[in-house]
Amino acid sequence: MELAAILRERCDKSIKECTNEELYYALLEMTKKMAGQKESNAGKRKLYYISAEFLIGKLLSNNLINLGIYDEVKQLLEENGKSLNEIENMEPEPSLGNGGLGRLAACFLDSIATLGLNGDGIGLNYHYGLFRQVFENHLQQETPNPWMEKESWLTRTDTVYPVSFGGFTLNSRMYDIDVTGYGNRTTKLHLFDVETVDEGLVRDGIDFDKEDIAKNLTLFLYPDDSDDEGRLLRVYQQYFMVSSGARLILDEAAARGSNLHDLYRYATIQINDTHPTMIIPELIRLLMERGILMDEAIDIVSKTCAYTNHTILAEALEKWPVHYLEKAVPQLMPVIYELNNRVIKKYRDESVYIIDNDKRVHMAHIDIHYGYSVNGVAYLHTEILKDSELNNFYNIYPEKFNNKTNGITFRRWLLHCNHRLSTLIEELIGPGYKKDAMELLKLGDYVNDEAVLERILEVKTACKTELADYLKNTQGIELDTDSIFDIQIKRLHEYKRQQMNALYVISKYFEIKEGKKPTTPITVLFGAKAAPAYIIAKDIIHLILCLQQLINHDPEVSPYLKVVMVENYNVTLAEKLIPAADIHEQISLASKEASGTSNMKFMLNGAVALGTMDGANVEIAELVGEDNIYIFGESSDEVIRHYEKADYVSREFYEKDSEIKRAVDFIVSDSLLAIGKKENLERLYNELLNKDWFMTLLDFKAYKAEKEKALKEYEDRRAWAKKMLINISKAGFFSSDRTIAQYNKEVWKLD
Ligand SMILES: *Cc1c(COP(=O)(O)O)cnc(C)c1O
Repeated sequence: MELAAILRERCDKSIKECTNEELYYALLEMTKKMAGQKESNAGKRKLYYISAEFLIGKLLSNNLINLGIYDEVKQLLEENGKSLNEIENMEPEPSLGNGGLGRLAACFLDSIATLGLNGDGIGLNYHYGLFRQVFENHLQQETPNPWMEKESWLTRTDTVYPVSFGGFTLNSRMYDIDVTGYGNRTTKLHLFDVETVDEGLVRDGIDFDKEDIAKNLTLFLYPDDSDDEGRLLRVYQQYFMVSSGARLILDEAAARGSNLHDLYRYATIQINDTHPTMIIPELIRLLMERGILMDEAIDIVSKTCAYTNHTILAEALEKWPVHYLEKAVPQLMPVIYELNNRVIKKYRDESVYIIDNDKRVHMAHIDIHYGYSVNGVAYLHTEILKDSELNNFYNIYPEKFNNKTNGITFRRWLLHCNHRLSTLIEELIGPGYKKDAMELLKLGDYVNDEAVLERILEVKTACKTELADYLKNTQGIELDTDSIFDIQIKRLHEYKRQQMNALYVISKYFEIKEGKKPTTPITVLFGAKAAPAYIIAKDIIHLILCLQQLINHDPEVSPYLKVVMVENYNVTLAEKLIPAADIHEQISLASKEASGTSNMKFMLNGAVALGTMDGANVEIAELVGEDNIYIFGESSDEVIRHYEKADYVSREFYEKDSEIKRAVDFIVSDSLLAIGKKENLERLYNELLNKDWFMTLLDFKAYKAEKEKALKEYEDRRAWAKKMLINISKAGFFSSDRTIAQYNKEVWKLD
C-alpha cells in the first residue's frame, strides 16, 4: 500500500499518528495518482457531454470503490484505529449542480468510464457550488458553499483559450477531474475557469456584484436570476463554457486526424438541456473562421450535436432577449440570424422560429433544428414532447426524436451508500450485478424465503439507526427508529408538491388529536433547497419548519407523528437518507416531472414508492406491478386537459370538502401564527386557495387514501419485505450503465 509512503513524504508520520485531515489529503493524493495511471479509451470518435452542472458529490469513497481498493483501505485504516467514514467527513462536497439534471450528468460520467467509452465531460469550475442552506427562525437562509481547497480533485492544466465577449476578452483555463470507472478506464471532467475570479466580491449571504464579469464569471453556480444583471451573467457563463469547450473539441479532433470537414466522424456533443446551446452557433463560427463556408459549417455541426430535453415547464425553456446576446456575444448574432432565416424560409409555422416576435431567442429551437437527435428522459416525458409540447417540431423531424430513460450509477447509490445491502445481495446472487445490473432479477428467487426477507428487514433497521445517529450528531435531530420513515427529498418546487405532503401532516395531526392514533408511529422527513428568489417555495419550507416545531413539541402527538426537515439537503445527505427510507414520496403533478432519479435510488435501496403516474414512476410501476407501489391521482392526460380548458378551480375543492378546508385553514391558524411569520403563511394560504397552479387540492384526497393504504400494509412485515425485495430486484433497468449503452447504440455510435 502506497499510503504509508505518501504519509511519510507528506508529514513523516504513521497512519496511527495522523489526524483524519492528514489522512484525507494523503488518500486524495494516492487516489489521484492511481486514477492518473489508468488508461483512457483512445478511439477515433469521441463523445463530449457538455453541461452547466455536474453534481458530483464527494469523490473519495466512490473513487476507492471504482479503483477496487475500498475494502483494503478501509481495513488498513481500521487496523490503525481510524475510520474511513470519519475521514470522509473531512471532504468538502462539490455541489456543482442544482438537482436531478446535474446529478444525472455525474452518474453518466461514471457509466461512460465504466463502460470504457471514449467520452469526457465539459463544464464550468464554479468556486461556490449550490448555496449552503441554513434555517433561521424557520426560514431558509443562503450562505456561500466553497469546496475548492489548496489540494482538491482538480488538476490545473496548461490548456488556456482566450474567450471574447462584447468589448473584452478573458482567458479560460482548463482544470481536470479524473472520473474513475468501476474496474475499468478513466475519463475526464474538464472544468473551465477564469483566473481573475475574486471571492472578495461576495457581500451578504450569497449576494455579490453581478456586473464585474472578469471577477464573478465562475464565482457561483447559477446566480440568482431574478434580476437583469443576474440573467446576463448567465449568458456570459454559458458562452464562456461553450466557447472553451468548442475550442477543446476542435483541437482534439484535429489532433486525432480530423480535417474539420469530417468533424462529426471524430466528435459528438451531447447538449444537456439548453444551457450549452450556444455551442452550435459558436462551432459554426469557429469552423468559418478556419475557412469552411457557412453552408458546410452548418451541415457539419448539425451532424455533431444532439440535445436532451429535461423539462416541459415553460419557464425553464430558455429564451434570451436578442439585446442580451447582442451585448454579451455580438460575434454570435450573425450566425443566429442566419440560422433563423433558414428556418423562416422553409417553414410557415411561426412557433418553430428561433427568434420570436418579442425578439427573444428560443434556445431549444436552435438545438432541435440544428442537432441530429432530440431526446426526452423517460417514456412518458418523451411521449408528451412528441404529442404536445414539441409536437410542431415532431411533425417536421419525427426521425430525430427518441427516448432515453434516465438512470443512476449503482456504484454510488448502492455499493457506496448501502454497504450492508450490497453485501447481502452479493451473498445471495454473487458479484455479477455490480457490472450487469439486470442480474438483480435473480433476487426474485427469494421473494418467499423467510430467512432472506428477515435479513432485508434487518438491513433496513440498521440503516435507519445509522441515519438516526448521523442526524443526531450533525443536526441535533432525534429520530424514532421504530417509526415508519416516509421520505421526500428533492428540490423544493410547487410541481413536486411538498405542500401536499405538508397538508397530509396537518390532517394526521388532527386525527391524532382526536384520538385516532396510527398503529406504528410515522416520521415524515423532508430535504429540499428552494431557489433564493422563489418566494412560494420558501414559504412552503417555512410551513414545514413551523409544523416541525409545533408537532414535535406536542406531547399528545409527537409519540405518533414527527416532522423532520433536514438542513442543507445535498448528495452526501441523500446517501444517508435513501438507504433508511421505508416509503418515498414521488408525488409530482402528473406530466410535470420529466423523469425523476431519486425514485430510482430509493427503489434500489428497498423503499416503496408513493407516487403519481409521472416521469419514470410509470416505468417503475410497470416493472414492479401494482402490489409493490402506491399510485394515486389524476393522469397526465387529465391534467393536460385541465390546463387546456383552464377548468381547475382550487377553491371549489376547498369549499366542498371539510377535511381539505380544515387542513388549508390550519396554515393560518393561531397555533402556527404563534410560531411562524404571518406574511409567509398568509401568502401560501392565498396561493393554495386562489391559484394552486400545480393542483394540490385536486389530488389531495386520493393521496391521503393511498398513503393510509401504504401505512396499513406496512404492518404486515413479511409482505412488506417482499415488496422491498421486488423493488430491488427490478431496479436493474435504472442503472445508468443501461442508459449510456442506449445513448451509445442509438445516438453517439462511438467505435
Ligand atoms: C438524485 C438527486 C436529486 C434528484 O432528485 P429528484 O427527486 O429526482 O428530483 C436532487 N438532488 C440530489 C442531491 C440528488 O442526489
